[in-house]
Amino acid sequence: MFEHDVLVIGAGLAGMRSGLAAVNRGVNVGVISKVHPVRSHSNAAQGGINAALTDRGDPWQDHAYDTIKGSDYLADQDAVAVMCQEAGQEVIGMENMGTIFNRDDSGRLGTRKFGGQREARTFFVADFTGQALLHVLYEQVLKAGVRVYEEWFVLSLIVRDGQCCGAVVMEIRTGDIHVIRAKSVVMATGGLGRVFEPSTNALICTGDGMALAYQVGAPLMDMEMVQYHPTTLKSNGALMSEAARGEGGFLINSTGERFMERYAPNMMELASRDVVSRAEQTEINEGRDVNGCVFLDCRHLGPKRIEDRLSQIRQLGIDFANVDMVEAPVPIRPGMHYQMGGIKADVDGLTSLPGLYAAGEVACVSVHGGNRLGANSLLDTLVFGRRSGEHAAERSRDMVHQSIDDNDSETDRKSIQGMLDREGRELFGKIRFELGQTMNTNLAVFRNHSGMEKASSEVDRLRDRFSKVVVADKGKTFNTNLLFTLELGFMLDCAEAIISSALERKESRGAHTRTDMPERDDKNWLKHILVNRIGDGDREIQHLPVVITEWAPQVRSY
Ligand SMILES: Cc1cc2nc3c(=O)[nH]c(=O)nc-3n(C[C@H](O)[C@H](O)[C@H](O)COP(=O)(O)OP(=O)(O)OC[C@H]3O[C@@H](n4cnc5c(N)ncnc54)[C@H](O)[C@@H]3O)c2cc1C
Repeated sequence: MFEHDVLVIGAGLAGMRSGLAAVNRGVNVGVISKVHPVRSHSNAAQGGINAALTDRGDPWQDHAYDTIKGSDYLADQDAVAVMCQEAGQEVIGMENMGTIFNRDDSGRLGTRKFGGQREARTFFVADFTGQALLHVLYEQVLKAGVRVYEEWFVLSLIVRDGQCCGAVVMEIRTGDIHVIRAKSVVMATGGLGRVFEPSTNALICTGDGMALAYQVGAPLMDMEMVQYHPTTLKSNGALMSEAARGEGGFLINSTGERFMERYAPNMMELASRDVVSRAEQTEINEGRDVNGCVFLDCRHLGPKRIEDRLSQIRQLGIDFANVDMVEAPVPIRPGMHYQMGGIKADVDGLTSLPGLYAAGEVACVSVHGGNRLGANSLLDTLVFGRRSGEHAAERSRDMVHQSIDDNDSETDRKSIQGMLDREGRELFGKIRFELGQTMNTNLAVFRNHSGMEKASSEVDRLRDRFSKVVVADKGKTFNTNLLFTLELGFMLDCAEAIISSALERKESRGAHTRTDMPERDDKNWLKHILVNRIGDGDREIQHLPVVITEWAPQVRSY
């Protein structure tokens, strides 16, 4: 058995920022990750990180307003205020730790414009900002003496006397199962992109943390809010960063028309993501597409600017669409990108389960509401990662450990042995693919009641097949076959939470656009939807008011 004051699950930006904050408060910290830390999905973040800096004439209140409008008024405004007020110190803090942000001609930190925002307040490192930040934080975490469990997989959370006090984990190299005892646990396992197929997310983004929390009774909030990013490649769903439009790229349809003029005459291509994705999908549905795609046109930016600032996505276009954006428009379409919902948490990361914190994409502090602004997620990971680490450290300081030991891993051992012993023909891959397709067909940019009901029955059927799934590899060393199967279990739980929340919301707001209920209905639905697992397989849905401070809901136009 292992033991830490604070155990952080996940070594993306949220997890490492949290671990660093906790260790700096003088407690003993462990960070665990199913992949090497710098392979976390944060590494793939391209475009940048937002911060409004007052000394540049950009007050935090303007950032807050853009975020709240972007959220279609579903974000909790007190939480948004915290994020926007603390943004500058986080970004400058990362610069001081060693992130080499792009600079402008005068040598100051440079910014680019991102969607749904009236100011250029996105700080960036070319088009690989996440990688730059993640490597710096990894160095800092190692330097500070945090124990990092690299390539260890969390199987379940341990709850004793109503408190989360550790986790059951598997060392992937050996297949050995252990218990890690902790006074506080911070969940920072990132998103669930791969519940949809295709997705911009890495294959490891399987919603493990949301499912782990859901399984021990911590409610998930705003799960119906799934972001489709406007510019993903048709071939494999890879992301063409919003930075392309931030640098001045256009969107055109099959007739060469800059169609955003009709949908968002003021902000054009830089309207909020839900607005642009709906516009593209409408163009596609009405036949002004080419093979299910519209186009991202960057030719006018010229080769130098593209090479300086968008070299990575240029290469993605060449490799996966056979198009060089210097010479031709790139075919793109809306694709699943981000989960606004997650484990309900407050601004210090506290969830409804004492001892369990959550930060980053796995959490719903409620700063993104119905639609996240580009470059607000990296910010969310750092601000709330730090706050959760600090709070968890303070909580743990004067506590004693719960008396748990290796016997607490018995249920997981038995369940894994059961999977390994099972015989039959049902394999995880087919179920995973069918799940992704069902979700992408019925819970995408446009939704309706019958499609969501269809997805619900399909997920029930897939769950039934999952109970018969066979793990072909019976070995212990690096059994990825077993891990993928365990991840599929988490994905099915996430799908269930998304669909039940989406069926519950009887209006259109942000990314949740229903063709059968197209209007936003503030009178009845200006509220969060929480889904909670009670007992064996039963679900409970609750509603929670949205926190409105100074920004009253208005009609949303760009
Ligand atoms: C292609 C792409 C580009 C993006 N670009 C931007 C951008 O420019 N700006 C922006 O603001 N946002 C961007 N985003 C969103 C943003 O990158 C993510 O929301 C954010 O990085 C998530 O960070 P995280 O720390 O919460 O999780 P992640 O970085 O996903 O890390 C999750 C961690 O949890 C671990 N983990 C998961 N499950 C388990 C388990 N069962 N056991 C052990 N460990 C586990 C993983 O190993 C990993 O270390 C982008 C996202 C994508 C997909």
